[in-house]
Amino acid sequence: MSKTLQAVRGMNDILPDDAEVWEQFEDIVRNWLHSYGYRPIRMPIVEPTPLFKRAIGEVTDIVEKEMYSFEDALNGEHLTLRPEGTASCVRAAIQHNLLFGNPRRLYYHGPMFRHERPQKGRYRQFHQVGVEALGYEGPDVDAEHILMCARLWDDLGLEDVQLEINSLGSSEERAAHRAALITYLEGHKDSLDEDGQRRLYTNPLRILDTKNPALQAIVEAAPKLADFLGEDSLKHFNGVQTFLKDAGLPYRINHRLVRGLDYYNRTVFEWVTTRLGAQGTICAGGRYDGLVAQLGGKPAPAAGFAMGIERILSLWQECGGQAERPTPDVYLVHSGEAAQRAAFRVAEALRGTGFAVTLHCGGGGFKSQMKRADASGAPFAVVIGEDEAAAGEVSLKPLRDGGEQIRVHMDALPETLADRLLESEEEDDGSI
Ligand code: ATP
Ligand code: MG
Repeated sequence: MSKTLQAVRGMNDILPDDAEVWEQFEDIVRNWLHSYGYRPIRMPIVEPTPLFKRAIGEVTDIVEKEMYSFEDALNGEHLTLRPEGTASCVRAAIQHNLLFGNPRRLYYHGPMFRHERPQKGRYRQFHQVGVEALGYEGPDVDAEHILMCARLWDDLGLEDVQLEINSLGSSEERAAHRAALITYLEGHKDSLDEDGQRRLYTNPLRILDTKNPALQAIVEAAPKLADFLGEDSLKHFNGVQTFLKDAGLPYRINHRLVRGLDYYNRTVFEWVTTRLGAQGTICAGGRYDGLVAQLGGKPAPAAGFAMGIERILSLWQECGGQAERPTPDVYLVHSGEAAQRAAFRVAEALRGTGFAVTLHCGGGGFKSQMKRADASGAPFAVVIGEDEAAAGEVSLKPLRDGGEQIRVHMDALPETLADRLLESEEEDDGSI
């Protein structure tokens, strides 16, 4: 026998029990986004490789070593499975003139691909919900993004989530800081690790973001970008903080928060938790005023964020979150050929009036069908035996609360079922 095939390492199947949790999460997320006036957009999963090189930056972890890039076998085009959504979203907005004098609030969700070392909370195919506000320049939209995250954590009942913010200033301010940083790091050149040595002149800011414990002391004492911020950047950052304080939202300024993508400027933020081990960042984002122009659009300011769905759902479960398993209203069992044909008609009639119906398929005796009915979680079984079929009737059998089994005409079933479901819900509430 040939060896069974497995999914690609770091790319997970999401099985029904989990997929139901995902769907419930997606429902909550959709309502939440609509309540802030964001509109959906869907981009392709494959994009031209130069898009990510230009947007994310050549000297970043993502572009240097995490992208799934390949040449189209038919025309040699350089393509990449998207590692994130902002670049695609901005590309789409430019391509379709979405920004023409028109600020836009957009969201998307879906799979992203990064060739990383798989571990808990870090996968090669993972999923993000991304939010982008294109054409907005003030600190108001930065604050809106942060506050809307806080509301979602609240809606989901997440605990132990902390907000960290920082300002990366303008590109000129970053350049001045960068020069000071290089001079400082040159003084510690021999202590830097391989990544640090390599990035010293290409992307020294990223050295501040190192996870290497041996470099923490050096990084701690490095020149702070905060000391290089000019008046406008400070005003913007203070503006964001004022909105956060007005909302009573606690935050910590983390001077070393620089983010792993080059396109950010001014406000950046991360939501972190201590409950998920090393992969504790559940959501991250910030302002990227230069990106639209960098990708060839008419210059427009913008800000956004993305959350990692796998990490959020782990935390949700850590905090006691549980999905309600969707159950049918009715499980339909039948015995005999005439009954089976009647069962198809009854099932469609019930669905046509809005009920969720699982029709037993695959044959089997009455007893084994009733077992399936029980396992389905449905509150009622509709039973059609030969007798019922001949009389044009069905038996309605309660499966949960021991109520009485009744026989009704097929035409009367939808109404009777509606009444009985209402009664059993009221009993569950204890309101009778
Ligand atoms: P990290 O520092 O954990 O690598 P990042 O800075 O690379 O994160 P972003 O590009 O900002 O992450 O993506 C936003 C969010 O997407 C992260 O905060 C995280 O929740 C999630 N995320 C990123 N990479 C992965 C991954 N490989 N597997 C699962 N979730 C991920
Ligand atoms: Mg990363």
